[in-house]
Amino acid sequence: MVGDGFRVSNFFPQGYNMPQDRLSPFFLLDYNAPVDFSPREQPRGVGVHPHRGFETVTIAFKGKVAHHDSAGHSGVIGEGDVQWMTAGSGVLHKEYHEAEFSRTGGTFHMAQLWVNLPRKHKMEAPRYQPIKKEDMAQVPLPDGKSEARIIAGELFGAKGPARTWSPIIAAMVKLAAGGEARFDLPASYNSAMLVVEGAANVNSSDALTDHLVVFRNDGEEVSVTSSEGATLLVLSGEPLNEPIAAYGPFLMNTVEELQQAFKDVAAGKFGVLED
Ligand code: MN
Repeated sequence: MVGDGFRVSNFFPQGYNMPQDRLSPFFLLDYNAPVDFSPREQPRGVGVHPHRGFETVTIAFKGKVAHHDSAGHSGVIGEGDVQWMTAGSGVLHKEYHEAEFSRTGGTFHMAQLWVNLPRKHKMEAPRYQPIKKEDMAQVPLPDGKSEARIIAGELFGAKGPARTWSPIIAAMVKLAAGGEARFDLPASYNSAMLVVEGAANVNSSDALTDHLVVFRNDGEEVSVTSSEGATLLVLSGEPLNEPIAAYGPFLMNTVEELQQAFKDVAAGKFGVLED
C-alpha cells in the first residue's frame, strides 16, 4: 500500500532487477491493478509529502483521485484522465481518493509513473497539467475498430497535449476484439507497454493482463494484436544518460543534491500545505 489508498505493484525500478536507468527517462512505475474499495467517509490516500527533481504522472483507469499541492494547484482526475505534475524545484502534495468516490466506494484502477527530469530542468518551477480524456488526440486505427488516445508526443500521426521536458511518447491504445495496431517507436528510446485490460500479442510475445512489456532497443516496429481485446498504455522516451541519485521522494543527479533537498524541506522552501 502507498498510504492507505493505493495498492500497487512496483514494476520498476525495484521490480525486476533492471538497471536503475533501464527505462530512462521513466524512473518508476507503480501499478494499482483493479481493486474494490468499500465506502468510507474519510478518503483514503497519501498525506502531505515532498517531491523534487522529477514529474509524477497519474493515470486513472477507474475511480477518482484528488490532488492538492503547495504551488496552489489542485484537481480531480477520473476514468481516462491523466494528471501530469512537474515537481521540479519542489512541491508538497497530497493524493487522496476523491470525496464522492470514497463515499460510494467502488473499483479503483490507477498507475503512477515517475518521469525523471534532465539535469538542466530539475529545478524548474512546479507545473500542473490536468489532461482530461477528451483533451487527448483521439485516433481511429486502420483496422477500423480500434482506437488510440495520444497523451504526449506523436503517435499514429497525432500529437498529445502533455508538455514534457524531454522527448516522450505516451498513449493509450484500445484494441477491439480481433483488432490490431502497427506503429514505430524510435529504437534509441526506451519503451514499455502496460497491459491494463485484456491480453495482447506484442511482436509475437504474449502479453497478459496487468503485465509490463519492456522492449529491447533493437528495432522500431511494433505489432500488436488481440483476440479478446486489450487496453495498453504505451510509454517511450529518449534516455537522459545522466547520473541518478534517488532517495525516497527525491530524484536528483548527486547525493549532495539529495541532502540539499532534505535541508530545503526542513527550511520550509517547498511551501506549505495542510493535511
Ligand atoms: Mn506523491
